[in-house]
Amino acid sequence: MEQRKVKLLFYDIEVCRDVVEGYGNKWDFKVVKWVRHQELMCYSYKWKGDAKPTFVYRHQFNTMKEFLTSLRDLQTDADIVVAHNGKKFDDKMMNRFYVKNDVDLPSPFFSVDTCQVARSKYKFHSNSLNELADYLELGHKENITYKDLEDDFMSKEPAPKTISLMKKYNNMDVELLEKLYYKLLPGISNHPNMARLSNTHDACPQCGNSDEELIGREKYRPTKMGLYMQYKCKVCKKYFQSARPIDPTFDVKPRFRNIAGN
Ligand SMILES: [Zn+2]
Repeated sequence: MEQRKVKLLFYDIEVCRDVVEGYGNKWDFKVVKWVRHQELMCYSYKWKGDAKPTFVYRHQFNTMKEFLTSLRDLQTDADIVVAHNGKKFDDKMMNRFYVKNDVDLPSPFFSVDTCQVARSKYKFHSNSLNELADYLELGHKENITYKDLEDDFMSKEPAPKTISLMKKYNNMDVELLEKLYYKLLPGISNHPNMARLSNTHDACPQCGNSDEELIGREKYRPTKMGLYMQYKCKVCKKYFQSARPIDPTFDVKPRFRNIAGN
């Protein structure tokens, strides 16, 4: 089998608010009627290697089903899907919209959630995309938020200015997402093996870099299974080890070992 290009998709969805009627106040409210459930307003996506994100919105389609199918097809094409809070929000929210609108679920894909990585591996003051982008100086966030645009955007014919602001906002999130992904890449555990996906023998399992000069030997790594070589990719900075013990002659069972905890 020849080498293949790994299809890595970055995406971000914008969902409108619920509209409800009921009694109470800001803190204590009883819903008696759902006027409108949450719906997908638009999304932005970028394949790894694309120069710019692509913005897709509901008014470009005749039906909601066609609109949702367009994103479902992207997820289906992808080997890996990256989204911020994707595992808890975007991926699941889309599944909700699919099942509601009789759109078949996407074929299974590997999901990488940059929010989950930020939370599990680092101690940031906030794990929101904007706060992380700000703190890690990945770029400027937009001052507008989609919440300011929602009312007009959800109308039948939103103003062109509203659409262009929404596009700017949504695309910016995907650009920040991609930068955040690469920033956090050395700390992402259990990333799908890019060497396997690209069918490249010598590639870095984390980023797919196959330039041998850029994969540096670090040190020996003793494990219960034998002695392995540890490497560091100079492109993505991830540490990894040889798939097999480096030398069978090293692969002997030691006669002695340390006492656990001593
Ligand atoms: Zn790498």
